Amino acid sequence: MPTIRELMTQSEQAMADADKDVNAPKVLFYHVSGLEPHQLYMQMDEEVNEDVLAKFNEGMERLMAGQPVQYIKGKEYFFSREFIVNEDVLIPRYETEELVEQILYAIDDYFKDYDEITLTDVGTGSGAIAISLALEEPKLTVSATDISEKALVVARENAKALGADVTFYQGDMLQPLIERGIKVDIFVSNPPYIPQDQNIDPLVKDNEPHVALFGGEDGLYFYRLIFKDVKKVIKDRALLAFEMGFDQRELMEEALEVYFPGVPYTIMKDMSGKDRMLMIYYNLK
Ligand code: GLN
Repeated sequence: MPTIRELMTQSEQAMADADKDVNAPKVLFYHVSGLEPHQLYMQMDEEVNEDVLAKFNEGMERLMAGQPVQYIKGKEYFFSREFIVNEDVLIPRYETEELVEQILYAIDDYFKDYDEITLTDVGTGSGAIAISLALEEPKLTVSATDISEKALVVARENAKALGADVTFYQGDMLQPLIERGIKVDIFVSNPPYIPQDQNIDPLVKDNEPHVALFGGEDGLYFYRLIFKDVKKVIKDRALLAFEMGFDQRELMEEALEVYFPGVPYTIMKDMSGKDRMLMIYYNLK
């Protein structure tokens, strides 16, 4: 049996040669061994256990075949909680944790005296946003929608496993809310926003659901759909919070001029300094 160090060196080299993420083998090893980082470093020069090696090799094959390590593990952390993920849902991104954080700040700023705050998350995928918010802010009553029944299976499992009270509806964009006459204080969405023809990492393009990634010719297709009808599903005083693409500020401002003339908004940057979040303050300021 190789030592852990040998196995890591060899696997990282194989990934580097294939122009793939060299950190993935270590993440995979933590998963199959159940070791914590500090334990791994203490045991670097010990031989790898046979079962662990078999599982690791299986995972390495999938990594070399171009699959994301999160789907191999079947989980990803989001806002300090573990979410189930599979090929039916987008893998939650760090940037999206910042959206959750900004929404929590905005709740403090604009909804402080509310006893109950209603919120909906359209296109919830794994449920990461909706579930995190429901668990972080007890005043929230949260619903979430997705067009994909398969995504909702994952989202419901996550809500159950994490003990979050979220009501899920299947349907296209705002339809499930309009049908039920639901009107919320906070409307959230991280819609698909990658322009159709944009060249993206094959790790993303070949594995993650395209229904969660691509937003038409200029990436704004779903925002325009939402902007057009969203007043049907928000209260007279509401916050609208979106994730957006880093290169969409100008197009977004044009769309806001059309659908929300004169309504205050901010486009916020993520930790990497890229435009990433849009907040619209509808009768809030
Ligand atoms: N942030 C994702 C990516 O870069 C895209 C998510 C989305 O389209 N909403 O792959």
